[in-house]
Amino acid sequence: MECLSSERKPGTVSLIERDRARLWHPYAPACADLPLWEVEAADGVRLSLRADDGTRHHVVDAMSSWWSAIHGYRHPVLDAAAKRQLDRYSHVMFGGLTHAPAVELAERLVEMAPSAPGSPRLERVFLADSGSVSVEVALKLAVQFQMASGKPSRQRFLSIRGGYHGDTFAAMGVCDPVDGMHAAFPGLLADNVFAPRPPTAASATPEAVQAWATELHDLAAEHSEVLAAVIVEPLLQGAGGMHAYPAECLTTLRKVADQHGLLLIFDEIATGFGRTGELFAADHAAVVPDIMCVGKALTGGYLTLAAMICTADVAAVVSVGSAGALLHGPTFMGNPLACAVANASLGIIDDGSWRAGVARIGAGLASGLAPALALDAVRAVRTIGAVGVIELRGAVDVAAVTAAAIRHGVWLRPFRNLVYTMPPYISTASEIDQITTGMTAAVSEVHEITAARRGEAA
Ligand SMILES: *Cc1c(COP(=O)(O)O)cnc(C)c1O
Repeated sequence: MECLSSERKPGTVSLIERDRARLWHPYAPACADLPLWEVEAADGVRLSLRADDGTRHHVVDAMSSWWSAIHGYRHPVLDAAAKRQLDRYSHVMFGGLTHAPAVELAERLVEMAPSAPGSPRLERVFLADSGSVSVEVALKLAVQFQMASGKPSRQRFLSIRGGYHGDTFAAMGVCDPVDGMHAAFPGLLADNVFAPRPPTAASATPEAVQAWATELHDLAAEHSEVLAAVIVEPLLQGAGGMHAYPAECLTTLRKVADQHGLLLIFDEIATGFGRTGELFAADHAAVVPDIMCVGKALTGGYLTLAAMICTADVAAVVSVGSAGALLHGPTFMGNPLACAVANASLGIIDDGSWRAGVARIGAGLASGLAPALALDAVRAVRTIGAVGVIELRGAVDVAAVTAAAIRHGVWLRPFRNLVYTMPPYISTASEIDQITTGMTAAVSEVHEITAARRGEAA
């Protein structure tokens, strides 16, 4: 394990070599020379990258830093909000203390949250420090709710295959049981119940949607005595495979939850704040869940912050239950700096210009990615809101596609068989064109067997 024992003096080797000697990266082994670029600057939609050999690339960030930097980097309003709060204080504990940034944020989230006539509103906010933690809190709240309602046997969850809800243990337990991390932690992940993934939005027939609804209903009926809640990513499954499904499935989920006494949890960590074309994915179907999680874009990608929002009824039942409290309280709960930036980001969302931005980006992605469908290596191309996906027939060569995209001035992070983009909402038409051209060229250069080469092989 040479990479773990290397003693190198800082300064004598490059930053990337020092990184490789000491750091972990997401879902990565410690001892591998995985490609890495140093970010020297970030401004607007662009990242300035430096490779290990010293070459520099000024690229459009097609990932919005994992879907969070929706307003771009160094946004003057967000920068100013962070600096203002920094001049007051950065952090204080949230036990027994409160502050204006947290109160304002809770009020804003309640104001924005999905609502529908006749549905109880989402009006009680728990601030968490990451998306995964907000999912943990949502699941915990659901179990406590059932316990306080006299149903202590209801401690498991119903979900749909192909989902992703985070990397902590309870969250992993509701991720896809095959493509998630269940195999790595047998015995540690809860024995949850999984319905099939709903049919693909673009090609769903009424019969397929009905068949899915029947299966969901049957599973809920069969296991209702042990189920606390149903949890899904509404409308678009993100890290589980960028799978969009029909909005009417959300109505079905609400009905099934109500019929069988389950709480309905929408994980809007990826879909929230406009990404799918409505403020929240739930708004496409005017369905209000009992519990909602938000994260990722909440601070415009500046700081880690997430929130769990529930109805007054759920909050009240848990609060008068035997535990007498929601049993969670992170050290950095309600971090004022993060809340201040979140308020600034939601202020930008409030002005409504995201809607035109997302629509413009969606149209640009649809027309720009259409030519990719002509490639032999490509199985499908799809867009929803400001999300564009090229699905390959086989696994992506991540390193090669990433490097090729950088040569075309675009930062991508493909996974599995998916080369996708979730650009910042401020991206111009020409930046979207650069992204779609770069994605298509990278796929073509790395994965396309040209007619000439096919001829040689024959
Ligand atoms: C990213 C994501 C999470 C986890 O959020 P973290 O901040 O990475 O912990 C949970 N659910 C969904 C839908 C996500 O996209």
